[in-house]
Amino acid sequence: NISFENQVALVTGAASGIGLATAKAFAQAGAAVALADVNGEAARTAADELKAAGFQAVGIRCDVSDMNDVEAMVKQTVSAFGRLDAAFNNAGIQNILAETADTTAEDFDRVTSVNYRGVWACMKHELQYMRQQGSGAIVNCSSLGGLVGAAERASYHGAKHGIHGLTKSAALEYATRNIRVNAVCPGLIWTPMVEQMIANGQKQAMESMVDFIPMRRHGRAEEIANAVLWLCSSASSYVTGQAISVDGGYVMR
Ligand code: NAD
Repeated sequence: NISFENQVALVTGAASGIGLATAKAFAQAGAAVALADVNGEAARTAADELKAAGFQAVGIRCDVSDMNDVEAMVKQTVSAFGRLDAAFNNAGIQNILAETADTTAEDFDRVTSVNYRGVWACMKHELQYMRQQGSGAIVNCSSLGGLVGAAERASYHGAKHGIHGLTKSAALEYATRNIRVNAVCPGLIWTPMVEQMIANGQKQAMESMVDFIPMRRHGRAEEIANAVLWLCSSASSYVTGQAISVDGGYVMR
């Protein structure tokens, strides 16, 4: 059983889906948790629910595409709980479906500033604190889309591929300094993001994806949370610079 007793965890995109499930899992494992989300009200509501259940939690409004917000998020986490042991850089958005030739620079920038630069921004400020503390573990949320391409999704998949470069480079930099950096690659996980994709007319695409998953089902957000907690815990003390797929076997096909 993994314990985060006396430890502090920070999760971005923590008001929904995979982030919310991971924040809850950290709290249940004993961590004090900072729940950051661009939807500040939802982040605070989620933190209040955890506090009402007897856990230590704080809700923070943070847009990961804003450098000032990200710097303030790390500061707020440390001022609330005194340290930072684990960070899950999870906030992410979908691109507007379009062939590469038809994608607008505006949509490309919108997606990459959250899914790619946002992960770098979070790591920058988390690592500044962790290297001074002399310990830490970071998990970045990539995707199946960080490992394969897909038509009409170049900006999302390109950004997710980029996360692997950020992860491996930072892992190398801090390998001798007691800080590990890894990535998780969720497959098809049932969250509000997927519900939104279905509402946007992608029901058939989602169903045919399930047919292709060796386990023949979508995953649950808690199944990603379990992998993230393992990667942030001492149970994975010799693992760094890795991208772990949690996808029902999808990517091996
Ligand atoms: P979700 O939409 O349910 O939750 C994402 C959360 O991130 C929301 O609360 C949203 O408000 C927040 N967010 C969006 N932009 C933000 C920003 N700029 N700053 C801070 N927070 C922001 O989505 P989810 O399915 O839980 O996805 C979480 C992560 O998992 C994303 O990075 C996504 O790309 C990745 N992922 C999801 C799946 C899946 O099947 N659901 C598969 C692969 C990867």
